[in-house]
Amino acid sequence: MVKPIGVLALQGDFREHIATFSSIGVEAVKVRSIEEIDATSGLVIPGGESSVIHRLASVYGLFDPIRERIAAGFPTFGTCAGLIMLASEILDKTDDQQPFGGLDVSVRRNAFGNQLDSFETDLTFTGVDGTVHAAFIRAPIVERIGKDVEITAKLDDGRVVGVRQGNAMGISFHPEVTGENRIHALFAKIAEAPN
Ligand code: GLN
Repeated sequence: MVKPIGVLALQGDFREHIATFSSIGVEAVKVRSIEEIDATSGLVIPGGESSVIHRLASVYGLFDPIRERIAAGFPTFGTCAGLIMLASEILDKTDDQQPFGGLDVSVRRNAFGNQLDSFETDLTFTGVDGTVHAAFIRAPIVERIGKDVEITAKLDDGRVVGVRQGNAMGISFHPEVTGENRIHALFAKIAEAPN
């Protein structure tokens, strides 16, 4: 039997991710324990507040097990706060905040400042035909890219908002809130046939 995709449901917009997978006929389930995660084919870290996701993952004893699985190549996809949690380094983090890692990048939280903390724009995305309508909400930016990391999306000014390394994908924006399901379809393919 095909395993579903798991969406980490500690905090953030996990329901929207489940609905987006459902719109393309891919089963996705909420996960809150390591047993539940081990019954899935890949783990989505949703948008929300990365410092809270880190704190709750630690409190529930999930932080180290998730970090270990991602390091071993378990497919994972982070949006916004989820991208922050997949970075190897978080810039402007809260004091005790730590990432799961998985992507050799440095990501700056809240990189657009208060004046422009939410906006929408169209961009191109590697592996998706045409344009992607992207919603940015207190979004991070990828400021350093490791040598094995592929850039999948940039803003017009060149700032990096999408990256992939092996079975890990991270994006600064929220396809799950704009009805965009093609990036979720790309992740579903990775989860089905990981490297
Ligand atoms: N600013 C949030 C953080 O630091 C991310 C915002 C989001 O996920 N929309 O985690």
